[in-house]
Amino acid sequence: MSTLRPSPIAPTVDFDKDGVQHGFLRLPYSRDDSAWGSVMIPICVIRNGNGPAALLTGGNHGDEYEGPLALYELARTLDPKTVSGTVIIVPAMNYPAFRAGTRTSPIDKGNMNRSFPGRPEGTVTEKIADYFQRELLPRADIVFDFHSGGRTLDFVPFCAAHTVPDKAQEQKAFAAVEAFSAPFSMRMTEIDAVGMYDTAAEEMGKVFVSTELGGGGTSRAETVRIARRGILNVLRHVGIASGAVEKGTTQWLDMPSGDCFAFAEDDGMIETMVDLGEPVEEGAVLARIHSTGRTGIAPREIRAKMSGMLAARHFPGLVKAGDCAAVVAVLVE
Ligand code: CA
Repeated sequence: MSTLRPSPIAPTVDFDKDGVQHGFLRLPYSRDDSAWGSVMIPICVIRNGNGPAALLTGGNHGDEYEGPLALYELARTLDPKTVSGTVIIVPAMNYPAFRAGTRTSPIDKGNMNRSFPGRPEGTVTEKIADYFQRELLPRADIVFDFHSGGRTLDFVPFCAAHTVPDKAQEQKAFAAVEAFSAPFSMRMTEIDAVGMYDTAAEEMGKVFVSTELGGGGTSRAETVRIARRGILNVLRHVGIASGAVEKGTTQWLDMPSGDCFAFAEDDGMIETMVDLGEPVEEGAVLARIHSTGRTGIAPREIRAKMSGMLAARHFPGLVKAGDCAAVVAVLVE
């Protein structure tokens, strides 16, 4: 058993109580403007008797909006009479980052998705991660974490799961992805899976499903509609919400290797040569990076290492060496 100290976070909701509760995860945070202050992370629990539990999160990164837009609305509208089991909704998981509109926390620069398993005596971000790791994830049968591209990336809208060693667990996750019915469904590969919420949930044996629904530090009408319909579909698919899954057509995509990713090796101004969703041939120029310090310098080309479809791109007009410039995914029949 763990010898870790208890979490400092106190929930104002009772996870075992039927009905709808809107409350907070209250995390003490003493600071200049509030000596005995707290971070108040909004949480909603909707429960109707015994049954499976879903843990739904947005705002893992604070500058991604489809998840929070879908989940604040779901918390306001999901009727417990149509639920069997429990739905735990945390629309803005890294709440300080969400309030600041930034990917990471303004308090400690913590990237929630690199902070797992967290530490009860750590930074604010690590304390939130620890609470999810030890208190919330163990309650869940299915874990759904909304992502989008944030300020620096933009994606074709997809729902995603990872390949995991336990094939029964993997099959359940891909079935939930299919039920979400985004225009695209992805078998996802991570650049660096250490410290991720995804990995923490999957190692606990949970069915873990995620999304990338757009980006640029904003949302679009279409991607928010996809998010709202999709999360209800997943709850219906697992039998927690009543009603039939609203099926849409989805195109499966795969990220078979690290060759999917193209990284900038120069600073400069990026010129996208392929738009999201367009086909890509191996060797094709995905983007050009123009130096801006002087005129007369030829742009550097970023080429595709494999054929497929452009699934993601760098969003801002300026790029730095090391930035992810593009992601190519393979279409699967
Ligand atoms: Ca993200």
